[in-house]
Amino acid sequence: MQTCSKCNYQSPDSESNCLNCGADLSEYSKHAVQLQELKANPRVTAIRISVAKTACLTCRDMEGVYSKENVPTLPIEGCSNSYGCVCSYAPILDEVYP
Ligand SMILES: [Zn+2]
Ligand SMILES: [Zn+2]
Repeated sequence: MQTCSKCNYQSPDSESNCLNCGADLSEYSKHAVQLQELKANPRVTAIRISVAKTACLTCRDMEGVYSKENVPTLPIEGCSNSYGCVCSYAPILDEVYP
């Protein structure tokens, strides 16, 4: 499922625009917005793809830590979960010990 950041409507992974408001989900899904924030945050050194235990094999293969440049976009392409991709982003933070 892709959640629209503008209207909170959930559209299937196969849709590229929100079914409710028409927003471009490659830019305005909650995951896309979160990824832009993580990439813009200088304290975030890398991004982990966090995968649920119930996720499909394709997604479990994608689990891991990626550089900001190489992080795959969510939903994972080829995901076969019947409810849609359930993966999420988790930031790897630059630990600062003052
Ligand atoms: Zn929308
Ligand atoms: Zn999947």
